[in-house]
Amino acid sequence: MRLDLLNRLPLICPHCRQRGIDARLRCSEVCVEENGFVIEGLLECSNTDCAVGHYPILAGVPIIVRDPVAWWQNARPSLTQVNCNSLKIKDFFSLLDAAAPDRQHHSSRLGTWMELHYGHNGSTSAPLALPTAEDYWQTLNALTAEQHLHGPALELGCAVGRYTFDLARRAPLAIGVDCNFELVAAAAQIQRQQVVHYRRRRRGTHFEIVDFSHTIPQNVLFMLADALDPPFQAEQFALVAALNLLDNVSAPLILLGQMDALLRQDGLMILGSPYEWRAENCEPAQWLENATLDASTTLRQLLTEQLIPELSLDYRILQEIHDLPWVLRQHDRYWSLYSVHLLSARKD
Ligand SMILES: [Zn+2]
Repeated sequence: MRLDLLNRLPLICPHCRQRGIDARLRCSEVCVEENGFVIEGLLECSNTDCAVGHYPILAGVPIIVRDPVAWWQNARPSLTQVNCNSLKIKDFFSLLDAAAPDRQHHSSRLGTWMELHYGHNGSTSAPLALPTAEDYWQTLNALTAEQHLHGPALELGCAVGRYTFDLARRAPLAIGVDCNFELVAAAAQIQRQQVVHYRRRRRGTHFEIVDFSHTIPQNVLFMLADALDPPFQAEQFALVAALNLLDNVSAPLILLGQMDALLRQDGLMILGSPYEWRAENCEPAQWLENATLDASTTLRQLLTEQLIPELSLDYRILQEIHDLPWVLRQHDRYWSLYSVHLLSARKD
């Protein structure tokens, strides 16, 4: 996390906001620093009565969720590796030094996302005539190619950061938010080191190392936060994007409401999803489709006040792509192909 970028946009304490108090966060302590990036430290809430009080920065990623300690207890078993050098942050998360054992040999999730976001730079091609990841990114970037962004851009569900970096090339500041620590920490590391480094699974437990330098913009902040409870003030952003997130949150309508609240008048909303709803993520009653209405129609009608006028979503649809291929590579013989519905809309 670059300290100089933190002051460019007010960060809100999610714990205080839930209680109706508008409290700001500021960096009160830098425990480990590396070339202008805060690797470990603390953000402090301006409300002296705040029950959370401090939010930690770990592996260069501010963790701004309502209950950071509960988050840690929940996330810890799934983390393959966490380095922490300062006693202060170890104390914050008691037991941090007893992190889960290195299970990288069996985990290929990070590699799958790294491959999708950066794999075109020197990876092997698909065995079949599958669309490339680069086609997907080019189509996505073409959506905003003509748009000038005069304010900050936000990507909710940024994973390992590719699109956030793309947004940073045309916005004064780009913020990437994800609730998966492993992925967002990898994005922050790419920004700091300007190097893409990951293990690509070939077969079974055999991985190969992918490693190359990659020049990317520096006007980027990554953080761990809940897309349904983002730590920002309303109407701060010229663009808010959520790619493959709508079908991965517990309340898709709340996500749309939050994106709308964060957007300035005239701001641009970018949504993309294969609508791969899963009951373990989201109750079927919340899915944005049913027997008579598919999700792309539902979304279009929601954004133009035709379906639930009480939501007050007043948007002009600028562009829609109904079947953008999106390929996720698991290993040499396992590729998943999705058909993504992509949409850009302007807030009226
Ligand atoms: Zn607070």
